[in-house]
Amino acid sequence: MNIHESEKIAGILEDMGYSECSDEKDADIIVFNTCCIRDNAEKRALGNIGAVKHLKKENKNLIIAVVGCMTQQEGAGLTLREKYPYVDIVLGTNNLHELENCIVRLRNSKKKSVLIDTNDRPQVREGERVYRTSGTNAWLNIMYGCNNFCTYCIVPYVRGRERSRKMSNIMDEFKRLLDEGYKEITLLGQNVNSYGHDLDDGSSFAGLLSEISKIKGKHRVRFMTSHPKDLNREVIDIIAESPTICNNIHLPIQSGSDKILQLMNRHYTRDYYLETIDAIKAKIPDCGITTDIMVGFPYETEEDFQDTLDIVRRVKYSSAFTFVYSVRRGTKAALMPQIPPEVSKDRITRLIAEQNKITKELSGLYEGKVYEVLCEDKAPKKEGYVCGRTDSGRLVTFKGEDKLIGSFVNVKINKSQSASLFGDIVED
Ligand code: SAH
Ligand code: SF4
Repeated sequence: MNIHESEKIAGILEDMGYSECSDEKDADIIVFNTCCIRDNAEKRALGNIGAVKHLKKENKNLIIAVVGCMTQQEGAGLTLREKYPYVDIVLGTNNLHELENCIVRLRNSKKKSVLIDTNDRPQVREGERVYRTSGTNAWLNIMYGCNNFCTYCIVPYVRGRERSRKMSNIMDEFKRLLDEGYKEITLLGQNVNSYGHDLDDGSSFAGLLSEISKIKGKHRVRFMTSHPKDLNREVIDIIAESPTICNNIHLPIQSGSDKILQLMNRHYTRDYYLETIDAIKAKIPDCGITTDIMVGFPYETEEDFQDTLDIVRRVKYSSAFTFVYSVRRGTKAALMPQIPPEVSKDRITRLIAEQNKITKELSGLYEGKVYEVLCEDKAPKKEGYVCGRTDSGRLVTFKGEDKLIGSFVNVKINKSQSASLFGDIVED
């Protein structure tokens, strides 16, 4: 989501005549697109903003802008202005389209800007210029904001309520991206399954996916994120039947304990979640299922944590993003009693070890088999090698020339190493 938003910021700048540079010392403008989902993301953003102060001294004309979620928190604009007076422009999540005006104003009259619109249902913007940076994959927003108010989460406060894009606009962008040569399109939303609930034209995520699956051609479609309370059987059926929609579902569990799920306001139980997983596995046997898991949420006991480990063992996720709960000011969970950091640290270590074991075990199952891989990029630090993903989302490294990037190849997996798969191209 943030990468794609940065692509939109870069699109605005490109339209104004700016071009990308590789060294910040050469920059005429630096825009920090911040995230405040966890405390360490916020600290890192502030650290990075602090680190460019000297550049401003060397180049008086350098423009520094701070945008994104962090600016949208109560009092953030003021704090940024006081602690980082060399920042020229601060824009909230609803004010990004004003970047160009702010830059022009600064250039013409040296006027700084702090614009933070707190409307939680801003208008959905169409026709934004995007400077794409993600190679063969293109990101596509289908909706913005979130209505769920999970008790730990800052997103609904800084991103506002759910707003869906009109299906016709999404379909137009989708087709345009295919015409431009993108081979994979990832649909984005905080909870894609509730797409269309705010429109009164009957649009739904299943309806959108079904329309998308009718578009013929050799390409892939992924989407994220699905909320377990809303991922319905209709969507599972469409994925199972469509050759273009990848067999890959990201379904964040957060915790395996019913008590914690309730405290988190997640609106599902572990049994309901496991039923959904069973339905996915029954319809899409080779589905790559990934998740987000949090440890150390208020009131989490060792028994609750064991329930989380149990879910991890039962589902066998192909990979998991694991987090230590981080207190976010203004959320309900911030008022709950917090558990000691050393307990959380111990739990995250055990959780990661458990998931690594499973990832390794699942990787072994790929060995000796042939998979269709979309070649995405050069392999990092491996001359003469390229990498790409299977339909299920697993990364594969194999020998090949750069010209393969953007094409589909069949690769026989001959080695696996924890999460990494290695193979060789085989002819059809
Ligand atoms: N909308 C998505 C997730 C968005 S945030 C969903 O509902 O699944 C991505 C992940 O960050 C979440 O799934 C959660 O695991 C994690 N996260 C969110 N708030 C957090 C917090 N306060 N502390 C730690 N992790 C958090
Ligand atoms: Fe945050 Fe929950 Fe919304 Fe995801 S669904 S963005 S975790 S409030």
